[in-house]
Amino acid sequence: LEKYCSCGQPMSIRLRTVIFSNKVTIENVPIFSCAACERSEVLQDVKEDLSALIRQLGRNPGKQQIRFDESNELAYLLHEATKRERVHTPVESIVKERVNELLDMLLLAQSLRDAAWAEEIRERLLQISKGSIATYD
Ligand SMILES: [Zn+2]
Repeated sequence: LEKYCSCGQPMSIRLRTVIFSNKVTIENVPIFSCAACERSEVLQDVKEDLSALIRQLGRNPGKQQIRFDESNELAYLLHEATKRERVHTPVESIVKERVNELLDMLLLAQSLRDAAWAEEIRERLLQISKGSIATYD
């Protein structure tokens, strides 16, 4: 997850609140930002999920507040990693912990024969593997 800005400086990952249509507040969206020129962009790995979320809102969304980390695993993990009490926990162990939690949930979903739930959990596991978050510093 290393990226350089067009001005040549390394960009760092932050969670930012994004306001859509002046009405919808989306919290904890992972973005790359450059401290030198203040350029920022949404992480490639979450772009698809973020646009799906915005599409779901429709053309004329009502005033609301959404936490992106509730629907996107990468945002969830970055949010966990930036919580103060987690400062000394390496991101790798947060990821590992979360993967174990999801695998437990998957077993439960399968034993309950809840196919929709199992599918949702698989999707979340996929979001983690897509993000190659282990390299996040
Ligand atoms: Zn820059």
